[in-house]
Amino acid sequence: MDKLHLSGLTQTELADFVKNSGEPTFRAKQIFKGLHERRLRSFDEMTDLPKAFREKLNQTATASTLKVESRYISTDGTRRFLMKTRDNLPVETVYIPTENRDTICFSSQSGCPLKCDFCLTAKLGLLRNLTAGEIVEQIIIVLNDVYGVGAETPHGTNLVGMGAGEPFLNYENLIKALEIMSAEDGLFIVPNRVTISTAGIVPKIYEFAKLENRPHLAISLSAPDDELRDKLMPINRRWNIEELFAAAKEFQKSLRRGERFTFEYVLLGGVNDSDEQARKLANLLNRYNLEKVKINLIPHNSAEPLEYHPPGAKQVERFKEILESKGVFAYVRRPRGRDIYAACGQLAAKDAPNLVQLTSEKVKKDKSEKVGTE
Ligand code: SAH
Repeated sequence: MDKLHLSGLTQTELADFVKNSGEPTFRAKQIFKGLHERRLRSFDEMTDLPKAFREKLNQTATASTLKVESRYISTDGTRRFLMKTRDNLPVETVYIPTENRDTICFSSQSGCPLKCDFCLTAKLGLLRNLTAGEIVEQIIIVLNDVYGVGAETPHGTNLVGMGAGEPFLNYENLIKALEIMSAEDGLFIVPNRVTISTAGIVPKIYEFAKLENRPHLAISLSAPDDELRDKLMPINRRWNIEELFAAAKEFQKSLRRGERFTFEYVLLGGVNDSDEQARKLANLLNRYNLEKVKINLIPHNSAEPLEYHPPGAKQVERFKEILESKGVFAYVRRPRGRDIYAACGQLAAKDAPNLVQLTSEKVKKDKSEKVGTE
């Protein structure tokens, strides 16, 4: 039987677990802090717990399930972690440093069931949903790798649910993981620092909008009409643009003062990047009065065997200007970590031998180097 993964329990669940083990309740707090604040990955290191209790814990529970298999570092400072679950499935997490904040891009599923034509992860298919504990553990592993076990993080940590998988098809585990990570006694990454990206699981957008303390939302669109979106993102055949935009409009009502939400649009040269498509996109947004949307243009990150390519820099700029001329706020996302297959849509458990793998020593040295800014 699999041992209970305590990193995936909320504080309340952990308190119940401790109570059922016949231990005093304050032990739950010690364990929670041990796991999430001190970022320890074994009970043996929690020396504030009595030895007998640690031994008992080791028999029924675990503090870690993921194993880092390889780690790649980009010339721009981005790091890609290829991890394996207990049942040997790939999980990828990306660390993206910028001058005054860190962003960690985590995965919600191993592989992905959506068959977006331009995305490399799609080629894996769905392997399985990740547990809440596996989601939380990704962040712990990355922070420990970058700063050292339990060390203070000098910048705030932002999270983006934009790694492998469709977060809204693993909704419960996702929300639970976010609750665990937001705890002040733990990682203390509050929802306001989190953005979840969905390919358009419409019912979950409505549900997400109702969350009391919810993260930010990004919706992947990538086409200005159903005909093209059906082809690029087959999920559109289940929920089309009209249904998606109705949900987006409802979501817009839940925005706080000054908050915006994002539509991601992967720019594919010769496919969805024409002037006419830019106008069509702007008109669509205007028709639905989605004035709080900002468009995040992502020039395609190529990877074999994907047949797409990004537009030239000039056309990217033109596309943006057309949107802006029609009152739509747009910006271009600069690719990070392309050289190590860490950029959007490139996560597919690539373990190519020609990529430079880093030993921990090299990673340590790298910390002192100045990293690029976005
Ligand atoms: N399934 C969710 C979460 C993944 S987020 C979603 O689709 O939103 C990953 C983002 O990268 C999405 O906006 C997706 O459209 C985009 N993307 C996928 N493949 C890409 C590629 N090859 N180049 C650039 N962006 C890509």
